[in-house]
This record gives sequence, C-alpha cells and structure tokens, in this order.
Amino acid sequence: MREEPPENMKRVLLLGGTGDALAIARALSAAHVYSLAGLGRVPGDLACAVRVGGFGGIDGLARYLRTENIALVVDATHPYAAQMSRHARDACAFAGVPLWAVRRPAWQPQPGDDWRDAADWREIVARIALFRRPLFTLGREALAHLHEIPASQHWTIRCLEAHSGNARAKIVDARGPFDLEGERALFDAAGIDVVVSKNSGGRATEAKLVVARERGLPVVMLVRPSLPHADKTFDDATSARDALARWLDRIHSSET
Ligand code: NAP
Repeated sequence: MREEPPENMKRVLLLGGTGDALAIARALSAAHVYSLAGLGRVPGDLACAVRVGGFGGIDGLARYLRTENIALVVDATHPYAAQMSRHARDACAFAGVPLWAVRRPAWQPQPGDDWRDAADWREIVARIALFRRPLFTLGREALAHLHEIPASQHWTIRCLEAHSGNARAKIVDARGPFDLEGERALFDAAGIDVVVSKNSGGRATEAKLVVARERGLPVVMLVRPSLPHADKTFDDATSARDALARWLDRIHSSET
C-alpha cells in the first residue's frame, strides 16, 4: 500500500503521457504525483501517486496546485500537447509555483530527406493529394477523416486505438518504440509512398524517417505548435531527472 505523504510536505506534480515523463516518474517517491490525461495506458508499477484526467482548465489546475501543496510542476507532456503546456504555465503563474519543462528537440532534416511542412489537416490533405498509399503517424486524428479518403488512395493509420478501419484504410494499433526492421516491413507490406508525421523528436519513433530517407519518400511534417516559456527547460528525461533529484535533496534537507 502507498504511504500518504506527511502533511505540508512539498510535492512535485509531473505532467506526463510520454516515455520521457514515465522515465522521470520512475524516480519519484510516494509523496509526488504523476498526472495523465487518460488517453493511454496507466502504469501500475510506480512508487509515486498517479492521477488520471484533466484538471478542469487553468483554474482547476491552479486550485489543484494549492490544495495538493505542489511546490514544483514538471511539464513532460508531448510537444504537440500545447494546451496542457499553456495551462501549466498560466496556472503556475497564478499559484506562484515554478514550472520546469522537458522540451524534446525537433528532428532536423538530413541530406536526402524530402520534408514538406503542413500547418494543419487541410494542408496535409493537399500535400498528399498526388500519392496513393500514405502512412499516417499523427495519433488518432486521421481516424476522424476515414470517410474523406479519395478513391485513388489507401491509408495506413498507426495510432493507439483498436479500430476496424474501412475498405480504404487499415488501422495499425501499435505502441513505439519502433525499430528499423519493423518499419521497413510495414512500408513494404503497405506499399507506403509518403509518410505523414508530427515532428515529435526523440529516438522512439525516428526509424520511419530513416526508412523514408532510404527509399527517397517524402515526409509531410505537421508543424510544431509554439510552447510557452518555462523557468527551466531540459532537452531530455535524464537531465530533467538529475536536476529534479538535486531539487528534491535541497527541499528535503531544508524540511528536516
Ligand atoms: P492537450 O490538447 O494539450 O490537452 C487537452 C486537455 O487534456 C488539457 O487541457 C487537460 O485537460 C488534459 N490533459 C492533457 N495532458 C494532461 C496530463 N498530463 N494530465 C492531466 N490532464 C491532461 O493534450 P493532447 O495533445 O490531447 O495530449 C493528451 C495527453 O497525451 C498528454 O498527456 C500528452 O503528453 C499525451 N500525448 C500526446 C501526443 C500528441 O501528439 N498530442 C502524443 C503522445 C502523447 P484540463 O484542461 O481539463 O486540465
């Protein structure tokens, strides 16, 4: 059974839903909280508390920070979860709580890459119009457009959702990381001729870009949203986890 944190103990709220966040959560003790939106898998093997579901906007989060005695928020959400990041920034400002953020650097095109930016769904559709077999790796967004697939196209949609698809679309329900061999096999089996991706950064889902490069296939890249300023920003989970360990040591020694 998890021990309740002592009253008035300063606690960390970690906003998650990514592999980076999970790696940080694994280093947190029972006093601290890992928060998930509730769309994906909820880990059952963490020492820290896990809460699931939205806070109810900026006000709800600011209230949560006060009532739960949160002394530091670490935003390790996905780079496209911009609303949560903005809410965290505003709620922390209201509540006077420092905000740290893990901001994974974007992937950069390499020699041989043919990347084409798209600002939104409408631009994605325009960019893929001349292709026949796109691979969508945007999450579940493409599922909302299954009825719009042109007769000239067959879509492969990889996302974390079991879905039967339709005659023009196959849904691949798979969770990363994805390796090179697996991605090559997927491209072969589905006859992929263009990739549609977020610029998520990191290693876990990078292999599809390598396969696109190997085959001279274009990648339609959904432009990253702009993210708010944080008091401290880290490129990866390891540096955030190390800084957090030092912060917790300092807090702990000032409390004892
Ligand atoms: P979003 O658009 O920025 O957030 C929508 C709302 O979901 C937020 O306003 C908040 O609700 C709630 N929420 C989001 N993250 C939360 C968290 N960690 N804890 C509690 N509530 C959270 O987010 P999204 O793009 O839908 O992503 C949802 C989750 O999936 C995030 O945790 C993100 O890290 C993860 N994820 C997203 C992507 C992506 O491509 N967007 C990819 C992989 C993983 P309230 O306003 O009610 O507080």
